[in-house]
Amino acid sequence: MVDMSAVEPVQLNLKSRFRFRCHKDISCFTKCCSNIDILLTPYDIIVLKKRLNMTSLEFLEKYAYIQPDDKGVFPLVYLKMKDDEAKTCHFLTSGGCTIYEDRPANCRYYAVGQGTLKKELEGKIVDEEFYFFVKEEHCKGFEEEKEWTIGEWRENQGVDRYDELNREWKRILLIKNTPGLQIDDEKQAMFYIACYDMDRFRSFIFVSRFLDVFQVDDTEREKMQEDDTVLMLFGVKFLKYVFMIEETLKAKPQD
Ligand code: SF4
Ligand code: SF4
Repeated sequence: MVDMSAVEPVQLNLKSRFRFRCHKDISCFTKCCSNIDILLTPYDIIVLKKRLNMTSLEFLEKYAYIQPDDKGVFPLVYLKMKDDEAKTCHFLTSGGCTIYEDRPANCRYYAVGQGTLKKELEGKIVDEEFYFFVKEEHCKGFEEEKEWTIGEWRENQGVDRYDELNREWKRILLIKNTPGLQIDDEKQAMFYIACYDMDRFRSFIFVSRFLDVFQVDDTEREKMQEDDTVLMLFGVKFLKYVFMIEETLKAKPQD
């Protein structure tokens, strides 16, 4: 588990500078890959199921566990650790991470954390992404000389595409802070399927009466049959409709 006292209570931006280097010869190499809660995003799961040649259900059953968010609104999915004494990540070997090129977004960011908050700007409520350091005692990377901005670190770790594809999903998560919001079991289950279980979500779209009820562009519909990422982005639109965040879908006129 991340020691919360290691989270520096300073809000950083893309231009914030820091010294950090993580490499195979550092004394703490892989110490950050045990006993840690790694939140998985929908895009992480798509990348990993493809890498491991698994269905979404197989991946979720073998490598993930569910935990509700701090407000008990949305079921979130985390990377499951092994059941050994150190609670080691399933993908860790003495040589490092065996899925390094496809590691989750939060592994890429570490030891930087990322969050989103709503703030008022010129009379409008906007989402603002911010960053913070996670300075855990075992992590010696902060003692190295290499200097970066957060923006350079993100680029180096290849996290841009992940953020881009997860941005609207994170916007949905922010509604958990709406006073008095209650989401029933059925909607929580729909959130879980549309975010994490792409194979089941595809069946829901193509096997149920969904396409008889809602207008979906032909090209988008064709791509959703084959491409999990397109389907995931459609799932986000669908959830915005379900949670009344935006009128993202239109019903077909019924005879
Ligand atoms: S996925 Fe890779 S980088 Fe992330 S915790 Fe596991 S071994 Fe470490
Ligand atoms: S503990 Fe820090 S420096 Fe060491 S391997 Fe992990 S991220 Fe890199």
